[in-house]
Amino acid sequence: MNLSEKDKKNIWHPFTHQKDREDNIVIIKGEGVYLYDEQDKKYLDAISSWWVNLHGHNNPHINKKIVDQLSKIEHLLFSGFTHEPAIMLAEKLLQFLPANQSKIFYSDNGSTAVEVAIKMVLQYWNNNNKAKTIFLAFDGAYHGDTFGSMSVGARNVFNQAFDKLLFDVVHLPLPSQANIEEIKASVKLISKSNKVAGFIFEPLVQGAAGMRMYEAEYLDQIISLCNEMDILTIADEVMTGFGRTGKFLASDYLVNKPDILCLSKGLTAGYMPLGVTSCADKIFQAYVQDDKTKTFFHGHSYTANPLACAAAIAGMELMENEATWEKINLIHRMHTEFKNRISPHKKLIDVRVMGTILALELNTQEKSHYLNAAADKISDYFIERGVILRPLGNVFYVLPPYVINREELEFIYKNIIDFLNNE
Ligand code: PMP
Repeated sequence: MNLSEKDKKNIWHPFTHQKDREDNIVIIKGEGVYLYDEQDKKYLDAISSWWVNLHGHNNPHINKKIVDQLSKIEHLLFSGFTHEPAIMLAEKLLQFLPANQSKIFYSDNGSTAVEVAIKMVLQYWNNNNKAKTIFLAFDGAYHGDTFGSMSVGARNVFNQAFDKLLFDVVHLPLPSQANIEEIKASVKLISKSNKVAGFIFEPLVQGAAGMRMYEAEYLDQIISLCNEMDILTIADEVMTGFGRTGKFLASDYLVNKPDILCLSKGLTAGYMPLGVTSCADKIFQAYVQDDKTKTFFHGHSYTANPLACAAAIAGMELMENEATWEKINLIHRMHTEFKNRISPHKKLIDVRVMGTILALELNTQEKSHYLNAAADKISDYFIERGVILRPLGNVFYVLPPYVINREELEFIYKNIIDFLNNE
C-alpha cells in the first residue's frame, strides 16, 4: 500500500465529504510559500495552510528556536509550574496587545481560545453574583467547532446536527451605515433585561463566512454601547491577528478596545497548536477572591506547550522586522491593484481586500454558500496548476504567507484571470 492508500484506509480527515472521497495529496516537505508532494510537484500555498502560516514553511529562524527549546524541555504541567518560553511570550504579546489587556491565559487552538473567553465572561458575572448569561454575536459568525464556540457561531450546515444542544445567542446583522442605528436600538432593548453577558465578534473580517468585511467605525459604535450597557466584549482575532488585516490586530483599527482577545493560528506562525485568551484586569480581578470556588477551573494537558511558545516567540521576532511589514504592505498594494483590474469581470459579484486578504465572490446559479458546487471546481482547477486556493463555497480568496514575492503573487493573479476567462 502506498502512503495515499494507507491514508484513505486509516484516517478520517476534517471538513471532508467521505463518500467517493478523492485521494489526499501527500506532502513530503515545505519551503517558503511552497509545499512539495511525493512526485516533487510544488504547490503555492496561497491560503497559508488554513490561515496559519506567516513566515513561510520550514523557516530557518523558527526551526532553530524550536530545536533549541527541544534540547531543554519539551513539555510540562502548567499549574504549580511555569517555564521561560511561556513567560517571555506573555510579556512580548502584552507589549503588542491593546493597553487594556493585562493577563494571558494559554490553551491550544482557536476553538479553545474562544471557549475560554466564553467561560471567562460567564464566570466573571457568576463571581460577581450577577445572573447574566446571554451572548450577542454576528450573523454569519464562525468561532470554532467546540460546543461553546459553535453556539456563538451562526446556525448553519457546520452545526445543524447539534442545533438543539447549542445555547441561545442573539445574532445581530453585520453592521453598515444602513443598519447601525437599528442594531444599536436592538442591543439597547435586549440589554434592558440585564441578562446580556457578552458580545463576541470577528473584527472587520468574518473568515469562514466567506471573508465578509465590514467597517471599524460601526463595530466601534457597538462596542461603545456594550461598554455603556455593562456587556463584556470579546474580539476573536484567531484569523485576523498577526498582521493579516494590515495592522498587528484588526482591533488596532478600533478606538474602543475589547475586554478580551482570542488568538491562535498565526500565533505560532503556523508551526504548532497554541491558543491565547487575553483579558483586561477587571476580568482577572473577579477571580482573585478568598473563596476557592471562584477559581477558573479550566486547563488543557498541553496548555502553553514550551515548543509552541518558542515557535510563537520566534514568529513574533519576525513580526518585529521592518521587512515583514514592508511585505504586508506590498501584498496589500498588489491585492488592491488586482482588485481594481478584475472587479468589472462579469463572472464576479464582488471583490474585497483587507490587508493581506483578497476575496473574490463568483457569480453562480446558486446563492453564495459553503456547499456551493463551484467550490470543487475552483479547488481542482488551481490544484492542477500548482496553486492551493481552497475556496469557501463560491468565494475564493488569497491569504498568503508574508514571505511571498511579487512574481508569486502575479502567478496567482494570472491563474485567477485564466480561470475566470476559461471556466
Ligand atoms: N475563530 C475564528 C475566527 C476562526 O477562523 C477559527 C478557525 N478557522 C477558529 C476560531 C477556530 O480555530 P481552530 O480551528 O484552531 O479551532
